[in-house]
Amino acid sequence: MPIATVNPANGETLRTYEAMDEQELERRLQLAQATFRTYRTTSFTDRARLLNRAADLLDEDQDDVGRIMTTEMGKPVKQARAEAAKCARAMRWYAEHAQELLADEEPAAADVKDSGGSRALVRYRPLGPVLAVMPWNFPLWQVVRFAAPALMAGNVGLLKHASNVPQTALYLEDLFHRAGFAEGCFQTLLVGSGAVDDVLRDERVKAATLTGSEPAGRAVASTAGEMIKKTVLELGGSDPYVVMPSADVDRAAQVAVTARVQNNGQSCIAAKRFIVHTDVYDAFAERFVAGMAALKVGDPMEEDTEVGPLASEQGRSDLEELVDDARRSGAAVLCGGERPDGPGWYYPPTVLAGVTREMRIHREEAFGPVATLYRADGLDEAVLIANDSPFGLSSNVWTRDEAEVDRFVRDLEAGAVFVNGMTASHPGFPFGGVKRSGYGRELSGHGIREFCNITTVWHG
Ligand code: NDP
Repeated sequence: MPIATVNPANGETLRTYEAMDEQELERRLQLAQATFRTYRTTSFTDRARLLNRAADLLDEDQDDVGRIMTTEMGKPVKQARAEAAKCARAMRWYAEHAQELLADEEPAAADVKDSGGSRALVRYRPLGPVLAVMPWNFPLWQVVRFAAPALMAGNVGLLKHASNVPQTALYLEDLFHRAGFAEGCFQTLLVGSGAVDDVLRDERVKAATLTGSEPAGRAVASTAGEMIKKTVLELGGSDPYVVMPSADVDRAAQVAVTARVQNNGQSCIAAKRFIVHTDVYDAFAERFVAGMAALKVGDPMEEDTEVGPLASEQGRSDLEELVDDARRSGAAVLCGGERPDGPGWYYPPTVLAGVTREMRIHREEAFGPVATLYRADGLDEAVLIANDSPFGLSSNVWTRDEAEVDRFVRDLEAGAVFVNGMTASHPGFPFGGVKRSGYGRELSGHGIREFCNITTVWHG
């Protein structure tokens, strides 16, 4: 894939970039290593000052960087600005909390005595340069949720961003420099995915985090495994959204629309499979389909656009194939389902019913505004359908019955259960999945500790 900004709203190539050559990559790796030697000794106070400054700059840049993101990957510009604001908040959150999250821990006195020692502690030390392979769907947020904790922990970052968001990638490097971070603290490697393997094998790179597709995750994890390097993987999702009879069905249907189409439907934590108890199925389906059909699809630069184009032509044809496959096998198309004429990679909000296990969309991630509706006879069947997926990122359940909530929390195979609301990430909560959605956690104390050398210090 060429490294280029191609506007998804009209298919126009606006800017192309030469990939960095081997010498430039070498220079950047050297700089990362050299910078780490000194940066690792800086105080939390100094790091927090720089990160807070980056947050302030990002707030000032919100309009400009919002337009860059929308131009590169097509999200509605209002959502792009909101993403920038969320990133600034996450930076401030880690600036404020990192020191307490990484404070020395004292093992139990009885264990110290039992070990024959006089005292002991556990210290979280940084690992070194961490490679971040990131996707285009939240081109700022995916990076910041790695970079903010990594920088506060004393690591330095090397970003290999998706090839279709080079301007956002370069903006991020510039942002951290303007905030006062030393040049090697955060660098963008403008390279294609073919260059990742060599970078990961380089002994100066100590660990890697990847958000993206399963094949990309598998490639990075297997090389990292060979090199015995730690990885965190955040891969796809096909999150269930279960609605039980005691739920506020109106509210559940209204939120379901946003949960499905946020970011033009291209979100790993978007609800994708809507599993509705038979008692409220018709009421939910009617409201949900009406909500999906009423969305304003159009130019993502317009303030009132709710759904813009998909990020790439390939992404649209992948999605279209999933819908066509389901339709051919007997699924009912309740709304949408036809690609519009004209420029841009638009696809309408679509709802499919009567989806069966044989259809690809039942087990693959629909990365666009396409929802599948399932009817469940009761809680047990709802859980069965929800777990009948290779993915396990997040899940949503709508019920006012606490006993049902307990059952869902006990039984759903997912890294999160959101009750009476839609999944959203927050720096205070761990984020990540099970099964083929990946492993490890981002955000919160769990996220910042992923790339630390957890060091035992023992005194005789
Ligand atoms: P990819 O996984 O291909 O891209 C994500 C990142 O990984 C990019 O930086 C990409 O670089 C890089 N990459 C791709 N292949 C490799 C590899 N073999 N080794 C190392 N790095 C690699 O996602 P796509 O954009 O192709 O989207 C395909 C599907 O992936 C989507 O339809 C969706 O299902 C899923 N996806 C999930 C996301 C999530 O948030 N969980 C985000 C994006 C996609 P480059 O751009 O240069 O190819």
